Amino acid sequence: MTETLGFDTRAIHAGADPDPATGARQVPIYQTTAYVFRDADHAARLFGLQEVGYIYSRLTNPTVAALQARIADLEGGAGAVCCSSGHAAQIMALFPLMGPGRNIVASTRLYGGTVTQFSQTIKRFGWSAKFVDLDDPEAVRAAIDDDTRAIFCESISNPGGYLTDIPAIAKIADEAGLPLIVDNTLATPYLCRPIEMGATLVVHSLTKYMTGNGTVTGGVVVDSGKFDWSASGKFPSLSEPEPAYHGLKFHEALGAMAFTFHGIAIGLRDLGMTMNPQGAHYTLMGIETLGLRMPRHVENAQKIAEWLAQDPRVGSVSYGGLASSPQAGVKARVYPKGAGALFTFSLKGGYEAAVKLVDSLKLFSHVANLGDARSLVIHSASTTHSQLTDEQKIAAGAGPDVVRLSIGIEDADDLIADLDQALSAATA
Ligand SMILES: *Cc1c(COP(=O)(O)O)cnc(C)c1O
Repeated sequence: MTETLGFDTRAIHAGADPDPATGARQVPIYQTTAYVFRDADHAARLFGLQEVGYIYSRLTNPTVAALQARIADLEGGAGAVCCSSGHAAQIMALFPLMGPGRNIVASTRLYGGTVTQFSQTIKRFGWSAKFVDLDDPEAVRAAIDDDTRAIFCESISNPGGYLTDIPAIAKIADEAGLPLIVDNTLATPYLCRPIEMGATLVVHSLTKYMTGNGTVTGGVVVDSGKFDWSASGKFPSLSEPEPAYHGLKFHEALGAMAFTFHGIAIGLRDLGMTMNPQGAHYTLMGIETLGLRMPRHVENAQKIAEWLAQDPRVGSVSYGGLASSPQAGVKARVYPKGAGALFTFSLKGGYEAAVKLVDSLKLFSHVANLGDARSLVIHSASTTHSQLTDEQKIAAGAGPDVVRLSIGIEDADDLIADLDQALSAATA
């Protein structure tokens, strides 16, 4: 859809023309596994990628395709591939780039599950990750070696609400001839569009703000279509004849859509991390209101962070939206519409008080999720980040005295009153 239309218009219309068969105005849930071929020639053309169409729902499905088109549009990408979760999206993004012995350079500030996926699980594929502080450009440059195939970061990072200077990291990636992959889950394309700042790939957990109500587990990989996969010889699965797809040279044959088609034709086909059409339908509906929800999430988070920052029972508040934040400069330059709605704060009473506070809150739900319409709380050190070493916990902003809040779209005053009573209970 054309970039001349506004964000909210595209959030509703992109990818969602009336159903060609029935005229249905809302995108139907195409609850089907397979699609009838017109004839044998049609089937052969679809399998050969000479014609685009539906074969089998592990690969493509019209409901999922509408969601892919919508997200690609909102992120300013050439194409997108949806998958079964945010974690699946990360593997799907790395899969075409990596091979045994290859590595990625990743931020130290990542979702706890991602730290585990990158520091432990990907080793089984012979891949590895080098974790560096992205505030130190020299350390990022020094970590890149001949086997590095990507740089990976989160725009706004979980759990500390830390703001990555994407243009600065994109510059380093560009100089090294590497793709920058940005996990944009916490910002959403409403607050940040990494491709416009030089990112090659954007991944999301659609489970969070994009769906927005805690109903769906899903993910997506968006490709900018701008990276030259053939320039360095480092990405043979995209630039050379791919044996897993009868020798097709994806980049040569498909140009800006090479990464997206690879994600479907090989990634979904062989890894099978497919999104289901019902989940896609819920996420499409969620995205319709993204432009209404995100400003409210941010406004509430700002109010609550400011209230906590002046409270004597609170040790510190880590929120990039605070004027006193060391990240105020990055916030103004890279995230002018807001620093998101996920942040952490520490309690003067330490671990004991943090756990007591979580147990005393009434409106905030104690869950492992984030990015829901309702406000959520968790003690990261004993839950989402418990697999990490103490050093990794502190680097990720999840020390023992730290509580993470995901601020919803309720009335901010009610949330503040709930925090007030729980702080009293926790520090009594
Ligand atoms: C939740 C989350 C993920 C993982 O997504 P799932 O949908 O739970 O697999 C990845 N990155 C970030 C920043 C997240 O918040």
